[in-house]
Amino acid sequence: MHLSISKKILAWYKKHQRKLPWRKYKSQKDRHYKVLLSEFMLQQTQVKTAIPYFNNFYKNIDSIEKLSKSSQSRVNKLWQGLGYYRRARFLLETSKIISKKFNLRLPNNYTELIKLPGIGDYTAKAILAIAFDKSEIGIDGNVRRVISRLFNLKNEKMILRNVEKLKVKKNSSSLMQGIMELGALVCNPKNPHCAECCLKNLCKFKDKTSIYTIERPKRKIKKLNACIYVKNKKILLTRKNKFGPLKGFLNVPIFENTSDNLQNDLEKFFKQKVKYTFLNKSKVSISNLNTEINCIKIYNYKNRDNNFVFLTNKQIQNNFKSSFLDKILKRVEGI
Ligand code: SF4
Repeated sequence: MHLSISKKILAWYKKHQRKLPWRKYKSQKDRHYKVLLSEFMLQQTQVKTAIPYFNNFYKNIDSIEKLSKSSQSRVNKLWQGLGYYRRARFLLETSKIISKKFNLRLPNNYTELIKLPGIGDYTAKAILAIAFDKSEIGIDGNVRRVISRLFNLKNEKMILRNVEKLKVKKNSSSLMQGIMELGALVCNPKNPHCAECCLKNLCKFKDKTSIYTIERPKRKIKKLNACIYVKNKKILLTRKNKFGPLKGFLNVPIFENTSDNLQNDLEKFFKQKVKYTFLNKSKVSISNLNTEINCIKIYNYKNRDNNFVFLTNKQIQNNFKSSFLDKILKRVEGI
């Protein structure tokens, strides 16, 4: 049964695949780079949104070599608007490691790939399958949904077991992309087009009206404080935020509470006495983390630290725009 499912998906994909820019390549080297770049961009971003960013990025930086020699600010600029900037940082770090350690060749084995920044289990398997045609299938949201419906499964272990059985020796690249494509175009989350599906006669998903409900672990909420200090219509910013996904990016000062006393935490963070008032509280997703952000307005701050700079809102929008910073600044009136 599994083999005939794989064959049907391969035949369907051959006929119905979308023409995506990372599916067209000039050489194997170009293929490896395009797969690497697209896989980073597609983490937490939909295909439709990623296409113009991919095209522009590739137009400016068209190889791992050029990428490894680029500055973080150039990469960030090309990433601008795509959000989840941690991916841009990891992509650059990964290209530098590939340049130094692997002589500019993208590793073709799981053990080395998984050690690279920004590459987890799914991305490593996707790269092996799509870039190298290795017999692997990465499990992303689309793959998980198709397989769970197809075999009527609600359990991750069983999904994994069935994915293993679908693997083929040849055409692994098309099979992996085929399952994802089927999930994106036919077996979509809320309204699967079962009547048009190449797997309709084999699929065990009987209740076509119910939606996919695999239980996923609830994500913890991180509580952060975002400090807004405005002087002469300029906003205080820093690259020294320690909170994981924001590390290294220009942002308003952000810190996690280390005690129950916010005044003490503030003084520890700014290394001076500051006054504050609460502006608002909101829930924001950063990368794949859920956060609760306390927006605080700061007063009587004296900038004695080189790690902090003042920029106008216009300068931020033109040079350092990020969706997270945007969300914070939109909550502050009069900047
Ligand atoms: S028949 Fe329907 S539920 Fe089954 S794989 Fe196809 S689209 Fe998904």
